[in-house]
Amino acid sequence: MKAAVLRAPRDLRVEAATDPAPSAGQALVRVRAAGLCGTDFRIWAGDRPVRYPLIMGHEFIGDVVAVGPGVLNVKPGDAVAVEPNYSCGACALCREGNRNLCLSRTAVGIDVDGGFAELARIPARCCWPAPPGLRPEQLLLTEPLAVVVRAAGRGAVRQGETAAVLGAGTLGLLAVQVLKARGARVLAVSRSDRRLSLARELGAEAVHSLTTGPGAEAARKFSGREGVDLVVETAGTPEAVEEALELARPGGRVVLTGLPHEPSRVHFFWVVRRELTLLGSMIYQDEFPEAMRLLKAGAVKVEALVTHRFALDAIQEAFAAHRSPESIKVAVIP
Ligand SMILES: [Zn+2]
Ligand SMILES: [Zn+2]
Repeated sequence: MKAAVLRAPRDLRVEAATDPAPSAGQALVRVRAAGLCGTDFRIWAGDRPVRYPLIMGHEFIGDVVAVGPGVLNVKPGDAVAVEPNYSCGACALCREGNRNLCLSRTAVGIDVDGGFAELARIPARCCWPAPPGLRPEQLLLTEPLAVVVRAAGRGAVRQGETAAVLGAGTLGLLAVQVLKARGARVLAVSRSDRRLSLARELGAEAVHSLTTGPGAEAARKFSGREGVDLVVETAGTPEAVEEALELARPGGRVVLTGLPHEPSRVHFFWVVRRELTLLGSMIYQDEFPEAMRLLKAGAVKVEALVTHRFALDAIQEAFAAHRSPESIKVAVIP
């Protein structure tokens, strides 16, 4: 098979690799599309250490072509979305159902080979069969959508509440739609004016551009009170975390799902004074089926989100496109 192999930071080569064969409990998937995200970029750039060589790619979909002994949940021919994380299944966290928090969690495309290849071998339990009629670009967004479905669940969003979404990348534009589908009125807040117009098309009732100043006043105006009930932070920058706290009303909830890699200068005075509830939301536990349901029902639209597609041979261009302000989700089609 052909695969994009990362041999060292920024040394990504498309080369011939041995076809993997599935052993017990594993599935072999012919990759149909693999999305790029900030994590891939950090690995490619060397900001996140991995063992080399590595086939990156964790947001991918494909068709099962073979399964090892004992696999019952999928069969050859099934179109699947891959849940690119699997936990140890044995620790206290796993037994409690918190498999997303397992300290021995394995991330496909990060800890082991992933989907920037023609074939990927993964545990069969990572495969979620697609409901009939779901188009490939819809299926491709299942993974980031599952992240957002969990964030909305962590925030316990209720019908009629006001919500602010910080960031208008893939996660933010999905969050706008999920919160709206849950009955919230949504304010989208971002640095990108162009993305904000897309947020509006996808259901944000109001938008605020951070290029014009902080969003607290916009949140007050939008909610008609001291701030919004719920903030979902998707940008993952230290500044965005600070900003998120400014948008919430006293007694409000702030869900952080963007991964801030740098420390943030949060004014905890305001967390206490406003009795804010701060919630982390880490990837997903059992949100893939709900993500697929929202896609199938048309409650979440993805057509405008997949902005670029590149063949595996052109994966270098895909990484360049990921950095361009015009791109939202860049896909590699092996
Ligand atoms: Zn990702
Ligand atoms: Zn575990």
